[in-house]
Amino acid sequence: MKIPGVRFDNTYIHLCSDLFSKEKPEIVKAPEIIALNSRLALKLGLDLEKADKKGLASVFAGNTIPEGAEPLAQAYAGHQYGNFTMLGDGRAIVLGEHVSPDGNRYDIQLKGSGQTLYSRRGDGRAALGPMLREYIISEAMDALGIPTTRSLAVVKTGETVIRDRRLPGAVLTRIASSHIRIGTFQFAAAHGGLDLVKELLIYTINRHYPDLSDALEDRPALLFLKSIIKRQVSLIVEWMRVGFIHGVMNTDNMAVSGETIDYGPCAFMDYYDPNTVYSSIDQHGRYAFLNQPAIAQWNIARLAETLIPLIDEDKVKAVMLAEEAVESFSYEYIRSWGHMMRGKLGITGYEPEDDKLIKKLLELMQQEKADYTNTFRNLPLNILPEIPFFQSACFYEWYAAWKERIKRNIQEEEFYETLIKENNPAVIPRNHKVEQALEVAVKSGNYEPFEELVSAVITPYEDREFGDEYTKEPLPQEKVSATFCGT
Ligand code: AMP
Ligand code: MG
Repeated sequence: MKIPGVRFDNTYIHLCSDLFSKEKPEIVKAPEIIALNSRLALKLGLDLEKADKKGLASVFAGNTIPEGAEPLAQAYAGHQYGNFTMLGDGRAIVLGEHVSPDGNRYDIQLKGSGQTLYSRRGDGRAALGPMLREYIISEAMDALGIPTTRSLAVVKTGETVIRDRRLPGAVLTRIASSHIRIGTFQFAAAHGGLDLVKELLIYTINRHYPDLSDALEDRPALLFLKSIIKRQVSLIVEWMRVGFIHGVMNTDNMAVSGETIDYGPCAFMDYYDPNTVYSSIDQHGRYAFLNQPAIAQWNIARLAETLIPLIDEDKVKAVMLAEEAVESFSYEYIRSWGHMMRGKLGITGYEPEDDKLIKKLLELMQQEKADYTNTFRNLPLNILPEIPFFQSACFYEWYAAWKERIKRNIQEEEFYETLIKENNPAVIPRNHKVEQALEVAVKSGNYEPFEELVSAVITPYEDREFGDEYTKEPLPQEKVSATFCGT
């Protein structure tokens, strides 16, 4: 079977074989397509409409290896909650790399496709709920304009997976610009040493940072580190813009491409609280909303450690240069976050007082438990009686100061409204809507709420009627306080 439009050109498989294991997906009983992403297929140049649905279900379940695929599971390591472990794709298999008509290279990966060399004690499987969850959230992230892996298909396997209860099994087809993680470098350093790190570095530069390939003759490691820092700063700032909490920012869950990867117990914050944690396994709040930049920096420091011998022959100098780069994360982040927050407030230009204005609003929002999404999006409509926060006396004082500030924007006065709409989504995949959609999908095989939710989250910046079901905050009884990764 050939996936119509696919152009496999596999390169990872030609790297040192320590970095992967050739594997075949396990055969499943009764593949059934639950979700197929035609928008993404179009972008990739895949003509899925042309294909026979049964054949596609078989490919996306792992039962049929499509022509040109050379399936492999990748090795990696990682700091999980701060502890170093050797890992690898324990339940995922990369079928191969597809080159789209616009020349971009993408991994096509099956997640939940059975055991591999790296499964440790896991069953290699995935449950339907978490795979549909990844589909919704990754597609929302993409529509929000945030770099992310994507979801091409979810197939039900017709088999049961056992977690805390019996659940329908599924396989997700994930599309990523690659699956190279910080943990892949950690694996290379721990397992193969300098030569393997060097090989991986050159490969990664060619694949993700081609503008550095001219520097390959010299010592590109430091430039590479700096480029990764740049992309990670901008990624985390984007997460903070929309209230996204990844939930499991282990070094194995951070892609060197700068895409958001590995959607587990992630969630979008409803009311503003910087300490928000949803993941049920993150008991100490290591990956809380406001910790995300510091954790990203910590992860990058782990990457830097693997690169030190390649940064300079003189170890003392290499460490100094690496430290300097890692430290730059902090001030690059603060600068970039400030810019983003001014955008959220419709402010152009910069006045030192802006920092106070931003800080004050966040303080008030935390104190009043104001909704992160709706507060910003509806600022131009102010005084909206439906939003209780806008009615509070403390808000009013802030609002007057903000209005004054907007008047000093360089652009025409109304421009701030456009800026606010561009920077603040109306729709995010709210936890209670996600949970509701997944529950009926899993329990009763009704995929309508899932489909409706997907179509709402893929046009996040479009105006919706106030009080629309996808913009409404959860009622007290609907509130989701914990998410589970369900692995
Ligand atoms: P995660 O927390 O989902 O990023 O997964 C951490 C590690 O556990 C990765 O190496 C996964 O491949 C592996 N893993 C997660 N779930 C399973 C499973 N059901 N079977 C085998 N390995 C798994
Ligand atoms: Mg992971």
